[in-house]
Amino acid sequence: MHFNLNERCAVVTGGSSGIGLATARGLLEAGAKVAICGRNAARLEQASEALADVAGGRLLSMTCNVLNADEVADFADAVKNRFGGLDILVCNAGQGRMSTFADTDDAAWREELELKFFSVIHPVRAFQPMLEMSNAAAIVCVNSLLSRQPEPHMVATSAARAGLLNLIRSLAGEFAPLGIRVNSILLGLVDSGQWRRRYEENAAAGESYEDWTSALAERKSIPLARLGRPEEPANAILFLASPLSSYTTGSAIDVSGGLSRHV
Ligand code: NDP
Repeated sequence: MHFNLNERCAVVTGGSSGIGLATARGLLEAGAKVAICGRNAARLEQASEALADVAGGRLLSMTCNVLNADEVADFADAVKNRFGGLDILVCNAGQGRMSTFADTDDAAWREELELKFFSVIHPVRAFQPMLEMSNAAAIVCVNSLLSRQPEPHMVATSAARAGLLNLIRSLAGEFAPLGIRVNSILLGLVDSGQWRRRYEENAAAGESYEDWTSALAERKSIPLARLGRPEEPANAILFLASPLSSYTTGSAIDVSGGLSRHV
């Protein structure tokens, strides 16, 4: 799929790995200027190197923890100074927490709720003035199928994701008169840094990553029988970020390989 995003500027939080990195690549390939952030400088450096073949001087990368409002404000200033404005904000930074109700303490609940809400609230607040100046503004949030289909082993993430889905719908209503569309994607299991880390922690000795993820897909009964590839959610993000979806706001695209049980 080809999108023409020449002259458009985009921000991808958590753009140094997995889905965010694939999204940054897709946006650059479509001609946009792209700013990515993450907390780890070395990972950002690796990402910049990985994107060098498509960046063509159109990539800004900066360390920024999206949970720190001051750092996000500095990131927004840097984007404004470098690109002059913003059309597309992809709120992607984050990770899931595996825990049941029995083993989630108050601190863990607070941490998870803070991550899921403020990883969207801070960037939206900081970039809103620039988005309001765009004639094709779009916010895309990376959310999870857990928001509609909770899993007991990810109790806090599921609850927080449901709240985020609700918040996105409110933002879509409030921002429509401002000319800013707000949508999300709902992920199942997508191959990324997160799953690589879980493999390293949990795999049996000698088990390859490919065998481990195949067994995972089978255990989860994913109808398409595999984990998603990062570029698959990235393609859905690109659609929602581009004027191709100009009449769509407040919606969620399912990217779960058929894992959703909803009609
Ligand atoms: P990765 O671990 O590969 O990438 C996560 C990215 O987010 C990294 O760039 C990481 O960089 C960044 N990040 C994490 N926390 C922060 C923070 N506080 N501030 C700034 N950057 C941050 O994972 P995925 O690509 O899988 O994750 C992308 C999104 O998709 C996440 O929100 C995740 O919860 C969601 N998701 C993923 C699923 C999957 O199966 N992969 C399923 C459901 C949802 P750094 O660590 O350097 O900060």
